[in-house]
Amino acid sequence: LSPFFSFYVSGDDKNSTMNVAHFDQGGLGLPNRDYYFNKDSATIKIRNAYQQYITKILELAGSSTADAREASIAVMNLETALAKVSKSPVQLRDPIANYHKMTVRQLAKDNPAISWQGLFKSMLINEDTILVGQPAFYKGLASVFNSVPLNDLKDYVRFHFISHFAPYLSNDFVQARFDFAKLLTGQEEMEPRWKRMCRMVDDNLGDALGQLYVQRFFPAESKKRMIELVNNLQQTFAERIQQLDWMSDSTKVKALAKLHAMVKKIGYPDHWKDYSSVNISKDSLIADLKNCGHYAYGYSINKIGKPVDKSEWEMTPPTVDAYYDPTQNDINFPAGILQPPFFYANGDDALNYGAIGIVIGHEMTHGFDDEGRHYDANGNLKDWWTPEDAKRFTEKADLIVKQYDGYTVLDSLHINGHLTEGENIADIGGAAIAYAAFQKTAEAHKDTLVDGFTPDQRFFLSLAAGVWRVKYRPAILRTMLLNNPHSPAEYRTIGPFSDNLGFYKAFNVKPGDKMYRPDSIRVSLW
Ligand SMILES: [Zn+2]
Repeated sequence: LSPFFSFYVSGDDKNSTMNVAHFDQGGLGLPNRDYYFNKDSATIKIRNAYQQYITKILELAGSSTADAREASIAVMNLETALAKVSKSPVQLRDPIANYHKMTVRQLAKDNPAISWQGLFKSMLINEDTILVGQPAFYKGLASVFNSVPLNDLKDYVRFHFISHFAPYLSNDFVQARFDFAKLLTGQEEMEPRWKRMCRMVDDNLGDALGQLYVQRFFPAESKKRMIELVNNLQQTFAERIQQLDWMSDSTKVKALAKLHAMVKKIGYPDHWKDYSSVNISKDSLIADLKNCGHYAYGYSINKIGKPVDKSEWEMTPPTVDAYYDPTQNDINFPAGILQPPFFYANGDDALNYGAIGIVIGHEMTHGFDDEGRHYDANGNLKDWWTPEDAKRFTEKADLIVKQYDGYTVLDSLHINGHLTEGENIADIGGAAIAYAAFQKTAEAHKDTLVDGFTPDQRFFLSLAAGVWRVKYRPAILRTMLLNNPHSPAEYRTIGPFSDNLGFYKAFNVKPGDKMYRPDSIRVSLW
């Protein structure tokens, strides 16, 4: 729960071994700033439903209908004022423009309406220096504090506090939140309670659940096979960097140093968090959740000003996902993704390189996408590119932006090429590197057919038919297109394969075919 602004603790982007407090824009109940201003009918419907939801929550919490309605207007006005001074998701992608080291004194001078010393004290922050992502947002927040009546501020906090816990309160609250959320998710039916509760335990006591999970579902052989795959991908990526025709030798040396320095984390953390201080009882779910929140907050706050623990994970072991962390320069694959359709412990190379292999290549490429390329081998925001190489990178990346801007997905809504730039670069790079690594296996050169498909065809089908075979309802598709830095699943196959000559060869793609792209616009970055 983080009203008014967003706060977290992690490595300093320019001094990556030390933890620092980050203050970013935040405080909105809708997914991003544009939802407060856009005038299309879908957005207006969501905005109206949000206001009804605010009213409903406050009513359920005991306000009269008239008071709740009035408060909902105040909350909307306040959030609209915050939205006005917030950056768009695309503007937030620039790591340099969103880095501002500031002292308490400077903050107090710039925004006297906020009692920074009082705020730090109540947040238990003892350090004098913090990172502010968007200083203009805090100027706007200060003027909100100056102009908005205290009662409206209270209504805003009251609403967000209750809304935060709504999924765990009595059915009226759970249903109210679901009814609003489904406009964004398209979900027609609530998930069964056991699924919601598993997610809750994973979110709050992830390392406790994770220990049980890996004992039961993550055999040591899986880790061994995964390490081999990661090493093969890394080696192949290094060879490809050496062969790049658009990058100078001096930048290549630094790119290779960064690739070799990449830390590989597979399955689960070396050390588990100790939850023995967290009081869990059967008396009150909300009290349990508050205790978990208290633990998590204390854990975070404790890290400020201390060295970064590089063994720590940002995802829990059962998570079906993976990530690259630019300040740690590490790639992370939780045990949850190391199962079909991503990873086949006893499967052949075509299946594995075409799925988890592409994921591995994807995460490695993030170190070299439009954001990651600004960080060096030690995870510091520091330019290591010659101006010419940076220019050539941007020219190629712009072709990728154009390519994805050209995919119209829902009515007239197309993929936002800038919002998804980093993920698309990683998808295209991941497929190219994994395909090249697969070509080094014996299996790739056999002419054995399985179900009528060649090894190369099965490599591409593993991603297309196994991983990204997904169908969306219009509401979630719209939400994704406006907020999610990933392209919709279908285009995570169509996009990268349209740029992959191996795919052209495997399926005999010719001019005139839907996925054919001529040399002039087909992109090969990594
Ligand atoms: Zn990614």
